[in-house]
Amino acid sequence: MSSITANRLNCIQPSATLAISAKASELRAKGVDVISLASGEPDFSPPAYVIQAAIDAIKQGFHYYTPVDGLPSLKKAIQAQFKRDHGLSYEASQIIVSCGAKHSLYNLCQALLNPGDEVIIPAPYWVSYPDMVKLAEATPVIIDTSIAQDYKITAEQLESTITSKTKLLILNSPSNPTGMVYSQQELRELGAVLKKYPQVFIVSDDIYEYIYWGNEPYNNLLMQCPELYDRTILVNGISKAYAMTGWRIGYAAGHPDIIKAMKKVQSQSTSNPTAISQKAAEAALNGPQDCIAEMVAAYQARQQFMLEGLNAIAGMECSPTQGAFYLFVKVEALIKRLGLNDDIAFADYLLDKAQIAVVPGTAFGGPGHMRLSYATSDELLKEALRRLRELFA
Ligand code: PMP
Ligand code: GLU
Repeated sequence: MSSITANRLNCIQPSATLAISAKASELRAKGVDVISLASGEPDFSPPAYVIQAAIDAIKQGFHYYTPVDGLPSLKKAIQAQFKRDHGLSYEASQIIVSCGAKHSLYNLCQALLNPGDEVIIPAPYWVSYPDMVKLAEATPVIIDTSIAQDYKITAEQLESTITSKTKLLILNSPSNPTGMVYSQQELRELGAVLKKYPQVFIVSDDIYEYIYWGNEPYNNLLMQCPELYDRTILVNGISKAYAMTGWRIGYAAGHPDIIKAMKKVQSQSTSNPTAISQKAAEAALNGPQDCIAEMVAAYQARQQFMLEGLNAIAGMECSPTQGAFYLFVKVEALIKRLGLNDDIAFADYLLDKAQIAVVPGTAFGGPGHMRLSYATSDELLKEALRRLRELFA
């Protein structure tokens, strides 16, 4: 029988990050002592005041549909955050609240892209970008980078990739999977190129903005190049900063016509994000922000611990990061030494021999690597390093 499902699904894969995390959970349920370093998900709890706000929202009767693009009071909190942290002003009509930043990105692709449009995606990239682009029948155009350039694209690379068909550039800093951050100077250089090509829109996926410990104050493209305001869509959310992945609230800000089109997509698919979660998100954004600093200090210390531990293993190589909670480890030499085919076989080997789940670099357009999330307890990270040392001794 020929496939009963839609042809357009033939060009995409299930999300590798979610699939491998699910596999690790299944093995654990069967009693296998798996350490999952696969999922990029904070291991902290949301702040108590956020949980209380959700309980209050239930008691106050927030059981009903909200406006498709989010509660006005939540939008106010988002507007205040953009003003406070970026110095950027947005009208309510320039903001949409979605079911996670992932949903905002998906809606954006559906709202902006036509068949034949090219979307520039620097690799290594977050696993879902190319497939979202393909689902919108547009074409991902990947720019490869290497560890030598800290996995960041240069202005020259960007300029030589832009064509008359380029519609969108996806930037993600701090990056999933590399943890790398574009400096102010690098952002200005990219911006200078983009200013020459008025047909190119930019999405700045800032979901890891608050998981950041770089030397410069946090900056995104728009903060360095305000001239790109009309063409840049900022995407952010509460999943990472407040450890609220399951609450599913993300948002986007940009040109009102683009936001309106995203709202149209959302109105014909999910409608509003969960009302209770929106009230919790509002509390998170309006409340004291010190919970973030505590989590960031823990991530930074874990990054240092894992970085030193991994670099001490012959055949593994990774660079210090400035944010997010991932290390993207070059393991080409180890793959060769073990006689394995590729990083996918390497990830299987780790799961089989050391019961450690990681995501192969290929899923992020970075073959020869593995991505490891250190958003897990110090004890488990210590044990993971012990297993790795023993396996590769
Ligand atoms: N962008 C990047 C780079 C991510 O790592 C994630 C986390 N899955 C998302 C977007 C989506 O986040 P959310 O949980 O808000 O959908
Ligand atoms: N951002 C996380 C990751 O990359 C969550 C899973 C997902 O949505 O991809 O692991």
